[in-house]
Amino acid sequence: MSRNKGKLYVISGPSGTGKGTICAEILKEIGNEFSVSMTTRSPRPGEVHGKEYYFVTKEEFEANIAAGGFLEYATVFDNYYGTPKEMVINRLERGYNVILDIDVQGGLNVKKAMPEAVLIFILPPSLEVLRSRLEGRGTESREDVEKRLGQAVNEIKLIGEYDYYIVNDVLEESVQTIKSIMLAEASRVPEAVKPIIKEYESQQ
Ligand code: ADP
Ligand code: 5GP
Repeated sequence: MSRNKGKLYVISGPSGTGKGTICAEILKEIGNEFSVSMTTRSPRPGEVHGKEYYFVTKEEFEANIAAGGFLEYATVFDNYYGTPKEMVINRLERGYNVILDIDVQGGLNVKKAMPEAVLIFILPPSLEVLRSRLEGRGTESREDVEKRLGQAVNEIKLIGEYDYYIVNDVLEESVQTIKSIMLAEASRVPEAVKPIIKEYESQQ
């Protein structure tokens, strides 16, 4: 049977809710492609250019906007973040699933550009747990933690635009749920059903 295009998965939710941790587990377990975003934020200790992000200057980012190089981009917590278009399209065309860990505005823009994308919203068990995860991660200043917490409910208000949601309490369960969603999505009847019908017609 002819090879299908890959599926695009968008993972969003408040900062500190566990998106990065979940994506890392999914990638370890199943061979999806993770889209590395471009950002103007500074690297955190241990973050590597080209792995977590492509860390660029504001000028470089704006040049890429002008060149039409982003599938979507947004300003999040005073920095630019964007999804490089070429890699995503290329991998999908080759039949790989691609995962984006992006903010809610970005997720909604992807949905506009590619309505077939699957949007998954990750919720924290409570705002108190979210605070303790952000503080426990220890990568932001106190002021930045407050900024991220201050945005959490505004982001959650847009959950109605998403296809699935997961409360990230026990990590292994969240990973399992995403794997189940991916399994179910792989069996979704595609828009283009002709190749499936042709396959069986040719056997008549
Ligand atoms: P995000 O990518 O959404 O900003 P992270 O993946 O960086 O969030 O997670 C924030 C912090 O919470 C990290 O220190 C991570 O180890 C921790 N964490 C993530 N998921 C869980 C979970 N299910 N239970 C407990 N701690 C978690
Ligand atoms: P962080 O600074 O904690 O790595 O990320 C902050 C927020 O930016 C997170 O919600 C993350 O999902 C989001 N983000 C990361 N990359 C992108 C991107 O390419 N586009 C958009 N719109 N948001 C992104």
